[in-house]
Amino acid sequence: MSNTWSNWSGYVTAEPRLVASPADAGALGDLVRTAPGPVRVVGAGHSFTPLVKSEGTILSLEKLEGLVSHDTEKHQARVRAGTRLGSLMHILQDIGQGLPNMGDIDRQAIGGALGTATHGSGPTLGAYHTQLETVQIVDGLGKLRDFKRAGDQETIHAVGVALGAFGVMTEVTLNNIATYRLRRRKWVLPIADMLRDFETMMAAHRSAEFYYIPFSGYAQFIASDFSTAATTTRPTEDDEGGLRTLRRLRTGLAWLPSLRRRLIRDAVAKVPAEDYVQDWLNVYASDRQTKFNEMEYHLPFDEGPKVLAEIIELTEKRFPEVYFPMEVRSVAPDQFWLSPFYNRLTCSIAIHHDAASDPLPFMRAAEPIFRKYGGRPHWGKMHSLKAAELKKLYPRWDDAMAVRRDIDPQNRFISPYLAGLFGIER
Ligand SMILES: Cc1cc2nc3c(=O)[nH]c(=O)nc-3n(C[C@H](O)[C@H](O)[C@H](O)COP(=O)(O)OP(=O)(O)OC[C@H]3O[C@@H](n4cnc5c(N)ncnc54)[C@H](O)[C@@H]3O)c2cc1C
Repeated sequence: MSNTWSNWSGYVTAEPRLVASPADAGALGDLVRTAPGPVRVVGAGHSFTPLVKSEGTILSLEKLEGLVSHDTEKHQARVRAGTRLGSLMHILQDIGQGLPNMGDIDRQAIGGALGTATHGSGPTLGAYHTQLETVQIVDGLGKLRDFKRAGDQETIHAVGVALGAFGVMTEVTLNNIATYRLRRRKWVLPIADMLRDFETMMAAHRSAEFYYIPFSGYAQFIASDFSTAATTTRPTEDDEGGLRTLRRLRTGLAWLPSLRRRLIRDAVAKVPAEDYVQDWLNVYASDRQTKFNEMEYHLPFDEGPKVLAEIIELTEKRFPEVYFPMEVRSVAPDQFWLSPFYNRLTCSIAIHHDAASDPLPFMRAAEPIFRKYGGRPHWGKMHSLKAAELKKLYPRWDDAMAVRRDIDPQNRFISPYLAGLFGIER
């Protein structure tokens, strides 16, 4: 029987000899020891890079999910690493806790979100891994190992963002906050104003982000702040309808670029503003149906407007097929050794390409712009970097690799893709 595996966008596929879903840490340890290598763990398969690809074994933690324990006073929750964010939100809400921030979707497993430094937006809000208090892993020899922030801070900083190469996370304790409510506002403004006021607008809210709609000259700004007001209805989201319109105009007006531009501008300028108050778990996530491939680079915050202006110019001059909005966010600095936010306030810029056609020409043209400004790639999104280039971007790279060797001395988790990323001879 064939075990064909594919990621969310369909861009990465694999034919592993074994796909397994262990039901407890003991069975997981046995598999790590004995299953055909390389052993790669999958969360929800929502990464765009071949992190999960293996000709040996793909391990799913779908049976290792749910709440283990919680501390009401400290707002801490210990959960199994296969728990999907969508179910984690409800688990936490039921015990009076909330995730301080979330990204664009809630489909990922918490282990997978941690594995690639998945993040939302907000200049004082870190990515998910900054919530880690404890981590339990099965190491490359199949043994359970526990690390705590108090006492093992350095190891937590090494294994917190680990691309599934520093053991398989089985349980994690997250530092959450008391459950809360957000006021979310969205409005459209000219991109020139957005770029001019970038620093003040991004800093003026607990969480702020914006999308640039290609060929429109307009951005949609999204701001979220704490609120104690009564909840109001979240407007029905029509991002999918918007994408269909943008794709139709792209395809139908390929030979009339100025008309395309005018029609998009008119449509975007008419998008109504939104303003609502909801419990945290009803605010962050969107439903993404249209499949795409994505590149996201994490840049020094101040470089954001310059880089975005160059990416827009590149796109609108040379890549008329692009119609997906570009997403711009900020992320707080942290101390995790393989975190792209290591020691710097970040502006993250993401570009997307319809999954039905080859994303590489666009991504290859955009990547040098991101790199010129010192960008670090999102581990789960398309990039071409290998160990020699990555090492220069991560000051604690060698320390991280030493911890990795200790956890996985036989390179059980090292696939050809990981070997290229980490510079490991196989
Ligand atoms: C529609 C869409 C929207 C997205 N939005 C955002 C966003 O807003 N912000 C953002 O930062 N990213 C975003 N991403 C990227 C996504 O969050 C990351 O790629 C994330 O890692 C995917 O989680 P996953 O559970 O699918 O993990 P996978 O893709 O399955 O795995 C990711 C990595 O984690 C490892 N891993 C998984 N589970 C474990 C475990 N238990 N122990 C150790 N390692 C493990 C895997 O081996 C792999 O290296 C988005 C992706 C898609 C498709």
